[in-house]
Amino acid sequence: MSTKQARISERLRPFGTTIFSEMTALANEHSAVNLSQGFPDFDGPDVAKRAAAEAIARGDNQYAPMPGTPVLREAISDHWHRATGQRVDPASEVTVTNGCTEAISAAMLGLLNPGDEVVVFEPYYDCYRAAIAFAGAVPRFVALRPNAAGRFEFDPDELQRAFSARTRAVLVNTPHNPTGKVLSGEELRLIADLCIRHDAIAIADEVYEHLIYDGRAHVRLATLEGMAERTLTLSSIGKSYSLTGWKVGWAIGPDALTAAVRSSHQFLTFSVATPMQHGAAAALRDGGAYVSDLLAHYEDQKCKLTMALGAMGFGVRACEGTYFVMADHAAVSKRLGLSGDVEMCRYLTTEVGVAAIPPSVFYDRPELGRSLVRFAFCKRSATMDEAISRLGRLSV
Ligand code: GLN
Repeated sequence: MSTKQARISERLRPFGTTIFSEMTALANEHSAVNLSQGFPDFDGPDVAKRAAAEAIARGDNQYAPMPGTPVLREAISDHWHRATGQRVDPASEVTVTNGCTEAISAAMLGLLNPGDEVVVFEPYYDCYRAAIAFAGAVPRFVALRPNAAGRFEFDPDELQRAFSARTRAVLVNTPHNPTGKVLSGEELRLIADLCIRHDAIAIADEVYEHLIYDGRAHVRLATLEGMAERTLTLSSIGKSYSLTGWKVGWAIGPDALTAAVRSSHQFLTFSVATPMQHGAAAALRDGGAYVSDLLAHYEDQKCKLTMALGAMGFGVRACEGTYFVMADHAAVSKRLGLSGDVEMCRYLTTEVGVAAIPPSVFYDRPELGRSLVRFAFCKRSATMDEAISRLGRLSV
């Protein structure tokens, strides 16, 4: 262990540096097109930028209330109502957080006691593991594996076995990063039934709620019968409005779960940047057209990228939502004499000029992800064309 690592708490030492910082740094070093860390290379809606700038100019620059600026909590509540037909009380059921990432940690810290178990699907977004560790809780993993058609699925028996008398929560991400899976109503019903049977809380990370392709529907876990009273739904403006750097997210849930989130949020960060909350409220209120244009753009980029990857010999997995696509690289790496996803992603970044993420870091059992690579397609058309042309260097 290096002396630098020795200073890191035992809780966090196993996690090292997040892969997103690592791959973006490598991409920059090699001037690679960065399809690793998922962030758009274009801007969010003007209406949001204007509202944030106006808030700064008029002097709205002091602490926001701990649970969020009322105008944003109202906008979140209205957005939820438009999507579900259900009303949530902005005063007691909505909390604004520093992106969904803070909401995840706030939920874990506010809800879990040391030793509590949390059911998590793997692969998982990397901060889940760390957030569970912050709380001293124990993850129980359920694998998502691609079926013959390339759609990631879980085994209902494995899911059932992951639940026990110690299960306190289940963490569900739909649409799912990194697999691009959108959980169906039936899959969510299985999860919901186990939650109810074990009196567990569901934490639903739905940040990609608007990025769903081919006319599929996003089913919100909280809308399933028996789930509203036990579900915390987390989301943000980052993905849907291309404002990942604003770090404005939220947690929606019944007052008892909201109280748990606020119990930690008040001491983690207290509140979120005031002007950005005004901007976020404008995005949610007036950004509908922006989201539909964005979706059409992503459909096109997804199509182009998956065709190009297929032509290079990658086994492209089904991408139903998010802005990521997973591809099996076994045939390509065999051709090139490479082994594993880390080596493949390093080669892609340094030799081909296209950075991607090695998904084995998102698994408790890394071997399940070694033959895969995750590409992000949340980029301008010209950026994607450049990436695709460089990927052509892989052709035989
Ligand atoms: N959510 C983004 C991704 O999965 C990146 C998040 C981050 O950089 N921490 O690529």
